[in-house]
Amino acid sequence: MKKESADSKSIVYYIDIKQDSNKSLIERLAIMIERSRLLTTIESKDRVAIKMHFGERGGHAYIRTPFIGKIVQKVKEYSGIPFLTDTNTLYSHKRHNAIDHLETAAINGFTSETVGAPIIIADGLTGRDQEVIEIKGNHFKEIFIGSAIFYADFIIVATHFTGHPLGGFGGAIKNLAMGSASIKGKFLQHSELIPRVEEALCKLCGVCIENCGFDAIKKGKNSIYFIEENCKGCGECISTCKYGAISPKYPRESKKLQEKMVEYLMGIRNQKNGKIIYINFLIDITPGCDCCSFSNSPIVSDLGILLSDDPIAIDKASVDLINSAPFNPLWSLTNKFSSEDKFKVIYKDIDWNWQLDYGQQMGIGNKEYEIVRI
Ligand code: SF4
Ligand code: SF4
Repeated sequence: MKKESADSKSIVYYIDIKQDSNKSLIERLAIMIERSRLLTTIESKDRVAIKMHFGERGGHAYIRTPFIGKIVQKVKEYSGIPFLTDTNTLYSHKRHNAIDHLETAAINGFTSETVGAPIIIADGLTGRDQEVIEIKGNHFKEIFIGSAIFYADFIIVATHFTGHPLGGFGGAIKNLAMGSASIKGKFLQHSELIPRVEEALCKLCGVCIENCGFDAIKKGKNSIYFIEENCKGCGECISTCKYGAISPKYPRESKKLQEKMVEYLMGIRNQKNGKIIYINFLIDITPGCDCCSFSNSPIVSDLGILLSDDPIAIDKASVDLINSAPFNPLWSLTNKFSSEDKFKVIYKDIDWNWQLDYGQQMGIGNKEYEIVRI
C-alpha cells in the first residue's frame, strides 16, 4: 500500500551520513528498512529482484557490496528469495552479454559469496531473453523487459544516484526503466538520440571513437564527426568525453528519452502491482553514470541513503539534497561552483526536471514529498 503523509505528500525515508550514534551506515540501512515496513508486502517464497548496476569495468564508484549484502539479508528475513540482477548494455563494453557482464560483476566484487544471493543477468546471454508488457503510453503500446525482472514477484531498485548525460541525473527512474529493458527495449528508448560535437571543445583524444561500439565516430581535421547511419543513439560517447564536447543534438531528444523511460517504469510498476521499492545511495555522487569505464571526482560529498515506494519522490528528494549541498571544491569540470543546480551546470542542455513532471503526469509518483529522518 502506498504510504503518504497526512497532506498527501509521499514519504521518503532518509539516513543522513552525518550522525552522532557511531552506528555503521550499513546497520542504519537495516534499521531504515525495518522502520519503513516497506518489505512487509513480500510474501513467503516471493522471488525478489534486487535491481542494480554492477559498475562498468574500470570504474570504482558504484554501490559497495556490504550494503547489497544487508538488503539481501533483510529480504531473507521476510521470507523472500533474493537475487541480484541487471540487463546487458546496448553499447559493447564489458557488460554487453551475460558472460562479460558476470565477469565484470565479479571483478567489481559482486558474487554470491560476497552478497549472499545469486546474480542473474535478466535478459540472458545476448540480451534477447525478454518479455512484453502492454502499456498505454504516448510513445509505447508495449515494452520489452528482461525475463528475470518480468518473472520476479517483487523488485528492490537499489540505485547509485549520479549525474547522467541524457537525463541530467540518473536515479531510480533510470535504473528501473532503462536498466530493466532488454537490448531491443533499450534501443527503442534511445533510438531518436543523435549526438553532436562542439568543435572548439574537442581535443581529438580519440576516446569516444574507441568507446563507440558501432563504428559511428571518425576523426576529422579539427574534431571528430559522426556517421549518422551507424549511430544507435546509445549515448556512450556523451558519457566518455571528459571535455564535455559531445551532447545530444537537440534538447527535445533528451525530453523524449525521459518520457520513454517513464513509460517503461509505468509498465513495470503496473505489472508488479506496486510491489516495488526504491533505495537511492547518495554516496560517490559522480557527474557521469556507472556505465562509464572510469569514475570522476564526486560533485558533492556523500549525503546518505534514501528509501521510498515512490520513484518520483525519491529522485526529487535526491536532487534537492544534492543541490542544497556545496560543490566538491576538488571537482574540476567546471568553475561555476556557486550554482545551486549542479546537474544544469554539468549538462546545460538537459532539463532533468522533465522526467519528474512527466512521471507525475503519468501517475507513477508525486514530486511532493516529506522526508522522514531515521
Ligand atoms: S572524447 Fe571528446 S575530446 Fe576526445 S575525440 Fe571524442 S569528442 Fe573529442
Ligand atoms: S556515436 Fe555515440 S551515441 Fe552513436 S552509437 Fe556511437 S557511442 Fe552511441
